[in-house]
Amino acid sequence: HPPFNPPMPWFGIDVGGTLVKLVYFEPQEVLPEDAAEEVEQTKVILKYLTSNKTYGDTGIRDVHLEMKGVPIDHHTGTLHFIRFPSSAMEKFIHLAKAKGLSSLNTTVCATGGGAFAYEKYIRQEMKLELNKFDELESLISGIHYIEQHHPEESYYFENPLNDETCRKVPHSIRDLYPYLVVNIGSGVSVMLVESRTKFRRVWGTSIGGGTFLGLCCLLTGCETFEEGIALAAKGDHRNVDKLVRDIYGGDYSRFDLPGDTVASSFGQMLDPEWRKNAKPEDLARAVLVTVTNNIGSLAMMCAMNAKVDKVVFLGNFLRVNSVSMKQLSYAMDFWSKGKCKALFMEHEGYFGAVGCLLEYMN
Ligand code: ADP
Repeated sequence: HPPFNPPMPWFGIDVGGTLVKLVYFEPQEVLPEDAAEEVEQTKVILKYLTSNKTYGDTGIRDVHLEMKGVPIDHHTGTLHFIRFPSSAMEKFIHLAKAKGLSSLNTTVCATGGGAFAYEKYIRQEMKLELNKFDELESLISGIHYIEQHHPEESYYFENPLNDETCRKVPHSIRDLYPYLVVNIGSGVSVMLVESRTKFRRVWGTSIGGGTFLGLCCLLTGCETFEEGIALAAKGDHRNVDKLVRDIYGGDYSRFDLPGDTVASSFGQMLDPEWRKNAKPEDLARAVLVTVTNNIGSLAMMCAMNAKVDKVVFLGNFLRVNSVSMKQLSYAMDFWSKGKCKALFMEHEGYFGAVGCLLEYMN
């Protein structure tokens, strides 16, 4: 098709239930057909975005995820990855306006529920053209694009529960169809991907990253995701959960259930003595293990039902959360008797934002 060149700057934005993910494409070279005015204004915005790593109180650029030398349309450039809480969306709109974004003849590509919720606001306040895209379509096309342009994007864990021998092993998912994608955001969606263009949503659950964060705040008094994860990393869920061995005195061998399997999440908390002894870090760990195992067993059922043996876990719940990634790796391997593999991707929560930008370009 003839080159389609919407005015720069090019943004993709995914306004989720908890976090806004923003990707910005910085062109490497100025192409002759680009209008001069557009180039100047792009420079101003670029300078602001790339000379900072944080924006306002809550905006953060994930510098370690930056992708250089990638093609979009007939341009080559750098993709920048920025996130901030969805609760700061109005502040962001004012900031973008103040930085002159609304004076540009720019189109914003948006996905996620917030693309609908903030539609009027973006059009009227910012005077921007808004192109909305479906979040799951965007997610899948973002996965394909990033996988293609970032060599060590996807990986699995070898010996996940052994601190000494555990290691990340690169493992490309290119043309590995069929596989499942389990996106763990505020809630969880499970997709069956059968080819580059064929996928469907097969399941979901409301018990996701938002559940971990919400319950963790309630039970421990923590205020942020990072705090909750740090607490959980220090805690022991066995001070909160009832295990098979607490009931059987050992393994339940008739059905191959090891003694340290959780029989009842939070099951010890009915006892006042146990309740008194459970520390905030133990409670945080127990919430993390409960949510993670629930997602793991759901993923397992979906994989068996669809007869696939590869499951790709994504979403910002996995950010700085190696406890859950290792737990999922171990659980998938153990419960499938080595048949099913858990895979992960470096760009965790950004696939939807990248995908909606691409869908516009196509
Ligand atoms: P959504 O599109 O629903 O916002 P995300 O993929 O962005 O989904 O994941 C949101 C989840 O990521 C939160 O529920 C929380 O568990 C986790 N998370 C990771 N980092 C943060 C953070 N800095 N602030 C809030 N939640 C975070």
